[in-house]
Formats: sequence, C-alpha cells, structure tokens
Amino acid sequence: MDPIRSDLHTHSAHSDGTESPGELLRAARAAALDVVALTDHDTVSGWGEARAAALDAGVGLIPGVEFSTRSGHHTYHLLGYLIDPGDSALAAEFDRIRESRIARAQLITAHVGETTGLSWDEVRAQVHGDATVGRPHIADALVARGDAPDRSTAFRTLLRPPSGMRLPEYYAPTPERALSLIRGAGGVPVLAHPGSPARGGLPTAAELEAFVRLGLLGVEIRHRENPAGARARLAELARRHGLLITGSSDYHGTGKPNWLGENLTDAATLARLLRLGNGTPAILPEELRERLQAYPTA
Ligand code: AMP
Ligand code: FE
Ligand code: FE
Ligand code: ZN
Repeated sequence: MDPIRSDLHTHSAHSDGTESPGELLRAARAAALDVVALTDHDTVSGWGEARAAALDAGVGLIPGVEFSTRSGHHTYHLLGYLIDPGDSALAAEFDRIRESRIARAQLITAHVGETTGLSWDEVRAQVHGDATVGRPHIADALVARGDAPDRSTAFRTLLRPPSGMRLPEYYAPTPERALSLIRGAGGVPVLAHPGSPARGGLPTAAELEAFVRLGLLGVEIRHRENPAGARARLAELARRHGLLITGSSDYHGTGKPNWLGENLTDAATLARLLRLGNGTPAILPEELRERLQAYPTA
C-alpha cells in the first residue's frame, strides 16, 4: 500500500503565508500530499475556503491553528488541531491576541519608520483582509518599498532590534492557558518546533512533563528548525510520555524557504491524532478514511 503523505503545519494568507487557502490546497495536491493541516496563527478564518478547496482537490484537510504562547522569556508555539471554532473562550482569546498583535505591529512600524520612512498604511497594504498581523507583513512592506530583497532578509536586517533592545511584545497566553483552551475546545495540542533557536532554548524534561500534565498530546520533531542533535532526545522524551511525534514543513508560500511536504507525519500517528480530537471533524476522502481506520487504536 502507498504511504499516506501528510504535512501537518502550513500557513495561508489568513496569517503570514502568501497563498489563499485554495491555492495552498492545490499546491498540496501538486506536491502529492494526501493530507494537509492548515494552521494559521491565532485564527480559523481560512477554514471555510480550505474545506471547499480540499473537497475539490481530493486532499484531506485537518483544520488547525498555531498559538504563540509565552512563559517568562520563552516562547512556545502550540498547534491546536480539530478545535471547535465555536468555543467562546477560544474565540475571545483569538480576538485578544489579534488586537494586541496590531498594536504591537504599529509600534514596530513606527520604530522602523524612523529610519526608513515606512508607514502603517504600507504595512496594512500587505495584510490580506482581516488576516492575523505579524512581523512578516512589516517585512513584506519593506520588500515592497525596495528596502530589502526578500522577507527573510528584512527579518535579519531592518526588523532586527538593535543589540540590548527587546522587541515590543504582544499579548500571548501562557502555555498552560493555551493548552487548557485547546483541550477545552476538543482539540489536540502539539508543541511546534520546540528546538527553534529563536524561542529561548529547548524545553527541559521537567518543562515538557509539566506540559504533558496540562494536556499536551504531541511534539513536532521533524521540522527544519529543530537542530539534528536535539531530535533524538526530544523523541525519547515524547515516547516516554506516549506523545504523538509529528513532522511538518511550516510552509508559508513564498514567505519562507520551507517547501510543502519537506517533512511528513506517518499514517499511524495521523490516525491517532484524528481519534484524539473531537472539536471539528477533518475532511477526508472516503478511501483515505478507510485506510486510516485500519490502524490500531492504541
Ligand atoms: P511575529 O509572530 O509577528 O513575532 O513574527 C514571527 C513569525 O514570523 C514566526 O511565526 C515566523 O513563522 C514568521 N515568518 C514568516 N516568514 C518568515 C521569514 N521569512 N523569516 C522569519 N520569520 C518568518
Ligand atoms: Fe508564521
Ligand atoms: Fe511557529
Ligand atoms: Zn508556523
């Protein structure tokens, strides 16, 4: 039997990806993926279009979201799969984060504008509809005015705070709070790219154990930002706690070099993930649904 190819972390223009959900699903088809998860930052506004496009393209869709959480100086990104978007506590949290992100982006824009002349209108022009605003849109505005060749360069140069200065922060829930919101909405929380260098260091065994007690169900281990040397230790910890071990691209269209399908999640893990979530059903072609049901429930 052919393996089931699933990529469980992608972004559309509803946050900081560059493609519409429809374009993303068609790109997933072209990349020979069977299943893709749409995990925009702090919003579910892309789900409707993604669902329709998934049915059209014959690609499976796991509706999801990516939460940025903060605990002291550490930032942890939590993927939340299959959450109920009608959960009012979750919806209120998204509103709070997204509003705070706008205020923070305005502060950063004003600061960058002092040397470049960049205006908030130019940043707004890079944001599709009511997408979740972030530094990537400020980077895109700098590219549009010719101050940087591409988004990644803008991040490394003009968007980098001078040494000793901290970026203004937006409101981010603690991991505890985000875990409880995701689980409360029937979702499956997975710790995204825990080895990312920009996040303040790898979680210790004790930290990970605390997250597990609070409801964490998985860890994204095959991700380009996790250093090779850290993966075995993370996987060992994840196995010890019976966590899902996922692999994903974190595709952002042309906004990042990551390509669709560059890391995959195996079918047995996908089958378990689908059984763990009950806030929203996944969209799965019938033939795929049957194949996934054949995996053991343990
Ligand atoms: P923010 O959440 O506003 O602090 O911005 C950080 C986000 O920018 C992270 O979630 C990254 O995934 C995202 N991002 C998108 N494209 C890039 C890029 N080319 N370089 C660095 N970060 C990027
Ligand atoms: Fe992003
Ligand atoms: Fe992330
Ligand atoms: Zn992401």
